[in-house]
Amino acid sequence: MSELFYDDPYQRACEARVLRHDEAGLVLSDTVCYPLGGGQPGDSGMLQLADGRQLAIIDTRRDRETREIQHLLASDAPRLTAGDKVTLTLDWVRRHRHMRMHTCMHLLGSLVKAGVTGGNLTDRGGRLDFDTGDSTLDADMLTAGLQQLVEADLPLRVSHISGAELAAQPELIRTMSVTPPMHLPQIRLIEIEGVDLQPCGGTHVARTGEIGAVRVSKIENKGSHNRRVAIVFVD
Ligand SMILES: [Zn+2]
Repeated sequence: MSELFYDDPYQRACEARVLRHDEAGLVLSDTVCYPLGGGQPGDSGMLQLADGRQLAIIDTRRDRETREIQHLLASDAPRLTAGDKVTLTLDWVRRHRHMRMHTCMHLLGSLVKAGVTGGNLTDRGGRLDFDTGDSTLDADMLTAGLQQLVEADLPLRVSHISGAELAAQPELIRTMSVTPPMHLPQIRLIEIEGVDLQPCGGTHVARTGEIGAVRVSKIENKGSHNRRVAIVFVD
């Protein structure tokens, strides 16, 4: 299966063949749909069949065992046959907001000098949990810091590293709750020039300016060491 969102997160549609469709979901030869993971929601979209019928894709997941991407259709959708040709189109407005907020989470992680213990995002906003110890965080200062990094319009770069090379540089792993798949021959690194460098499998915008206006909406205490920082889009 070609997972096209890794090479080009801006690709909104693709042609594909049905490999399998069963109760677990629909497996396609190629997909632009990002599966739920790393705190980023699975994509939704639309499937067009050869006869013109359109079926909604309501969510996208990765099978834990087979690692295949499963597209989830409504319970009353017809069962497709292996070999059927389809056109897959993303709900791009939603996905692009995920890309913007996900990239913003990298910026937030660079501003808070503490380990990340969790995180989540939607098309409206996102949050990261930090193990801050006794240090305090200021919402207005973080908002100003984010704004500066967005306005700097910094480019993002994707590169690859082997698990062994990454194991030799453990300081690259910011998210303590998620261990990268060190057994893989290649792990994807995301670099925001001069700001952040870490392994990540999510989808990102090309430049930080594309994130747009955001602000820290809340900082909550989650236990004695943990602070939850929530961010929302201002638009
Ligand atoms: Zn990322």
